[in-house]
Amino acid sequence: MIEVVLGIALALIIFLVWFEINILPVIFLGGLFFLLYRMTSGKMPNLNNSIGKTARPSSSIQFEEIGGQEVAKKELLEALDFIKSPDRIKEMGIRPLKGILMIGPPGTGKTLLAKAAANYTNSVFISTSGSEFVEMYAGVGAQRVRQLFQQCRQKTKNEKKNGAVLFIDEIDILGSKRGSNSSHMEYDQTLNQLLTEMDGIGNKDDINILVMGATNRPESLDRALVRPGRFDRVIQVELPDREGRLEILKLHTKNKPLDHDVDLDKISREAYGFSGAQLESLSNEAAIMAMRENKKVLSLKHFMEAIDKVMMGEKQDKKPDKGELKRIAVHECGHAVVGEVLKPNSVSVVTITPRGKSLGYIRQQPEKDYLLYTKDYLETQICILMGGTVSEKLVLGEQSTGSSNDFNQSVELAKKIIDAGLSPLGVVSVDHLSGEVIQKNVQDIISEQEKRATRIIKSNLSLVKKGAEELLKEERMSGEFIRKHLKKKGSFWPGKWWRKKAAGSR
Ligand code: ATP
Repeated sequence: MIEVVLGIALALIIFLVWFEINILPVIFLGGLFFLLYRMTSGKMPNLNNSIGKTARPSSSIQFEEIGGQEVAKKELLEALDFIKSPDRIKEMGIRPLKGILMIGPPGTGKTLLAKAAANYTNSVFISTSGSEFVEMYAGVGAQRVRQLFQQCRQKTKNEKKNGAVLFIDEIDILGSKRGSNSSHMEYDQTLNQLLTEMDGIGNKDDINILVMGATNRPESLDRALVRPGRFDRVIQVELPDREGRLEILKLHTKNKPLDHDVDLDKISREAYGFSGAQLESLSNEAAIMAMRENKKVLSLKHFMEAIDKVMMGEKQDKKPDKGELKRIAVHECGHAVVGEVLKPNSVSVVTITPRGKSLGYIRQQPEKDYLLYTKDYLETQICILMGGTVSEKLVLGEQSTGSSNDFNQSVELAKKIIDAGLSPLGVVSVDHLSGEVIQKNVQDIISEQEKRATRIIKSNLSLVKKGAEELLKEERMSGEFIRKHLKKKGSFWPGKWWRKKAAGSR
């Protein structure tokens, strides 16, 4: 149809030009009509729809597009089903749901869940962040809250929707305990206004506004906000487990051409601890790498490198000199050998490419997602961390500052052991322990693991040297290299007997 109209218009223009008639007014009028047509048919952005600086347009996200959050989705759907059948709620005398609080780390899909909730309930979606209410002047934050709720009502009416979902990210900034802030008058007024609006005081219209708040600091919220009748439901949105990661990876690679060697299951194992946002970034980075190499498909190697990038940051231009490179290689190999001896098949990659703040690193692949850590697990992690500095000492004769981050992590792990009542101190209240006692126990735990790492490195010194040479040549080496050479040594790998022997009695 459009082609016919365009054809006729072109023929008309040629005709007018042929008879030397001025066609400028015709073109101007034509343009005006075209613009009017686009506006009335909804193909132009309707400027009147803008709802203030805090609001963004509603979305078309569906629950099926959110991976690895089965429990959160189920709980949310149960709550939303109430909203979907308002008549039944009235019949049963149930008061409408006012608020849902989502708690979880960044990038786990809280915003996506709120958008999907709006879609599911055929509501308008308006989002804002707690930080947008931080004002120096008393009353301004409260006024913004009022405006926002007003906008929700207006938009619901304009778009003839069932209600509105008002998503407030970082709600802890707006809803922290009253009186806890330095400029508390302003904060308190803003929070009071939010409570008033949620209670619906003074609103005669029947529009349902569901407030969905997101935070990863629930302990700082004012109790009035989380009491029943306000945030009625609390939903935990956790980091995805391995199956969840796989599901999210499938969602984010759906539109990407993958090579035959891409094993999403393997990638989900390697991406241990990744959030949904990190998995999205990982898929995106892999695609960028493939494009830079002029490849038509994304292969496993792109994903593996993308994991390093998302985990450790961008490659750095830092150029360590020859001696430093050797030290870094020996250090990383030390971690890898201790890691592989104590946890066979755990080392995924060892590299001496500077990324982010680190000059080199190893990536371990846990055999499963842990919910709890045993004493043995924590001690083993300390031992692996000590493997780097011990290798430097045994191979190069002295240690360096390159181990300070390993020491910090070891201290944190040792404190965890004490905190959990797993140290020789037994079950204690850490608050009542003196700094000296804590320090002494931390030192004992770490020095025991340092001795254990020393025993392992001493019996595998030639492998540490060989691995370091390989790293200096290739910059990157897979855990397979260490496994192959440990196997060659034979008798002791990967049997439990050897691990106990190498580790010595603890
Ligand atoms: P924050 O707390 O930092 O605001 P959030 O929990 O609200 O983060 P989202 O904004 O929902 O996280 O997620 C950011 C992006 O990460 C999404 O646009 C999506 O691409 C991806 N993502 C996060 N979680 C998931 C998931 N569960 N399934 C699919 N994609 C996800």
